[in-house]
Amino acid sequence: MHQPPVTILDKQFSIYLPERKILQSVEILAARLSHDYQGKQPLFLSVLNGSFMFASDLMKEISIDCEISFIRLSSYADMQSTGKVKEIIGLKEEIKGRHVVILEDIVDTGHTIAGLLPQLHAKEPASVEIATLLLKPDSLQHRIEIKYAALSIANDFVVGYGLDYNGLGRNLRDIYKVL
Ligand code: 5GP
Repeated sequence: MHQPPVTILDKQFSIYLPERKILQSVEILAARLSHDYQGKQPLFLSVLNGSFMFASDLMKEISIDCEISFIRLSSYADMQSTGKVKEIIGLKEEIKGRHVVILEDIVDTGHTIAGLLPQLHAKEPASVEIATLLLKPDSLQHRIEIKYAALSIANDFVVGYGLDYNGLGRNLRDIYKVL
């Protein structure tokens, strides 16, 4: 089925990953997680805003006992200050001794995850892994293991399925890339 380009603000986007393909990949990832975390009652930490749709579809396919909570990362107070770490907001759960799985929409340079991991490790969880919907392997600038990625993509800017362009496009069912 041909899908026309969409316009968001000043940019045009063409279809890249149709919903069917996304959901298939999310299902496969959920099966892996259900297998690997059997008996461990993992705590999924969904990083808002971008991961809400991924987290929702993933959870429906997880077949073991698990919990989910939602966190945000503070925005940079000062864009000039390089290396400033975004702080976690909204983590109410005690994660000491828990098996934590971070749910991200996309890992690009890896700066976000690299800043997040030490903050979580300081709370002494039993384990922490990352599960991301999208991974841009060619962009990654940190030596971090992304154990779970539903889909690897090229270094293009994408929107849809929870991902935004200046706040818009999160409601699109499919993922589009900039033209
Ligand atoms: P990183 O810190 O890994 O470079 O980037 C992570 C964040 O950058 C993501 O959570 C997302 O908010 C944003 N980001 C990176 N690449 C894209 C993209 O292609 N599309 C959108 N919409 N956001 C992106």
